[in-house]
Amino acid sequence: MGFFSKIKQGLNKTRNSISAGITSLVNSFTKIDEEFMEELEEILVSSDIGVATSTEICERLRAKIKETGATDTNEIKELLKNIISDMLGMDSGLTLETKPSVILVIGVNGVGKTTSIGKLAASLAAEGKKVVLGAADTFRAAAIDQLEIWAKRAGASIVKSTPGADPASVVFDTIASAKAHHADVIICDTAGRLHNKKDLMEELAKINRVIERELPDASKETLLVLDAATGQNAVNQAREFKNVTNITGIVLTKLDGTAKGGIVIAIHNELSIPVKYVGVGEGIDDLQPFCAKEFADGIFDGGDEQ
Ligand code: GDP
Ligand code: GDP
Ligand code: MG
Repeated sequence: MGFFSKIKQGLNKTRNSISAGITSLVNSFTKIDEEFMEELEEILVSSDIGVATSTEICERLRAKIKETGATDTNEIKELLKNIISDMLGMDSGLTLETKPSVILVIGVNGVGKTTSIGKLAASLAAEGKKVVLGAADTFRAAAIDQLEIWAKRAGASIVKSTPGADPASVVFDTIASAKAHHADVIICDTAGRLHNKKDLMEELAKINRVIERELPDASKETLLVLDAATGQNAVNQAREFKNVTNITGIVLTKLDGTAKGGIVIAIHNELSIPVKYVGVGEGIDDLQPFCAKEFADGIFDGGDEQ
């Protein structure tokens, strides 16, 4: 299955909610007027794009309508598609230029960190890269076992310690193993205990110190994993993590199970952190590189089918 169809399929629920709402609005208005615009803004706000971002989309839309002289409501979806694609900006992938490069994966419990690491490892391994996973979520024994299963599936190796071990020391050992075996990419899992901000900050700072010291010149990515189904709460989580560490990209999971896919736009617009991957299912090939244009198309193309 092609990349677009997977992302589009993952957006089924979001498309049915946003696009179907706009279709029925378009069908009940013959021309674009103030009342039409107000109802459109309501649809956007209620679809997890958020108030601030919806307002901005509508401002841009008004300017576009003025500029193009559009009066036909049927033109709205195409205009919105372009505006949203523009707002999402250039797509940015991972920077993995050194051997090894490091990817640190962070986020609260249950958002899909371990699963996303497994999928990402599989896709990097499929490109011929040697991947080593670091089981630095030492908080629960099950987390280590789960990462081990994914390592096997993905064809990656894993470095682990015992439950309760110092996560920074697992990262240290993972880097040592990657160096010894000439691995291309290191991906480190972490525990997500956001409820204690001080602990989290200290733990991440300690892990980052180890990485900086052991691999001062390596390409480093810190990916924050967010669950799309949590809607605006995902934006709040991103804000909190952004306060304690430098995030280079977001992995937005579980798009397939939610109508709240509009959250991608809010995250991008309100936090200026690029969404680099989206999760569209639980399978090994269900992590897709994010593409703004295909995302915008996926929200608006169709939407009348069930
Ligand atoms: P962690 O606690 O952040 O490491 O989260 P896990 O990786 O253990 O994932 C929690 C649950 O979310 C698991 O049941 C995963 O299968 C599920 N999950 C992760 N990503 C996706 C996704 O993109 N789509 C769906 N439907 N489920 C996902
Ligand atoms: P600090 O927290 O900035 O003082 O950094 P440390 O030098 O204490 O290192 C942070 C963590 O990295 C330590 O707590 C260890 O867990 C780990 N670490 C550092 N050096 C080594 C080492 O030689 N072997 C192992 N296994 N872990 C190490
Ligand atoms: Mg996990």
